[in-house]
Amino acid sequence: MRRKHDFICINCPLSCTVELFEENGEVQEVRGNECAVGEKYAVTEYLDPRRRVTTTVRVRGGVLPVVPVATSAPVPKRLVREVVRALAGVELQAPVEMGQVVMPDILGTGVDVVTTRPLPAKRD
Ligand code: SF4
Repeated sequence: MRRKHDFICINCPLSCTVELFEENGEVQEVRGNECAVGEKYAVTEYLDPRRRVTTTVRVRGGVLPVVPVATSAPVPKRLVREVVRALAGVELQAPVEMGQVVMPDILGTGVDVVTTRPLPAKRD
């Protein structure tokens, strides 16, 4: 059976509503996109949706108690909760460098989790 799925393209302020038609999971047609980026976005959202994950991890001995981290590339959307859960138990030691690898190849995705700012050690 042919089915329609609607997506809002988030790649520019036009926010096109993109209609994707599939039959038995196979993409047949994409409509409504003003450019090729929207077609690629809708197909990826349907077949393999991915998200960049951002959160914080604890830091021992830093000027702040936590440092922001992010995945170095988007990971499969179905793994977002597991990524956050895996990072909940991590604690770094200050000082922390920007871009420091916190967890390599998280959950076997081939994507590293890295810090997105430096965090100096607290001076006593
Ligand atoms: S389809 Fe193209 S023009 Fe439309 S929102 Fe996406 S990037 Fe922008």
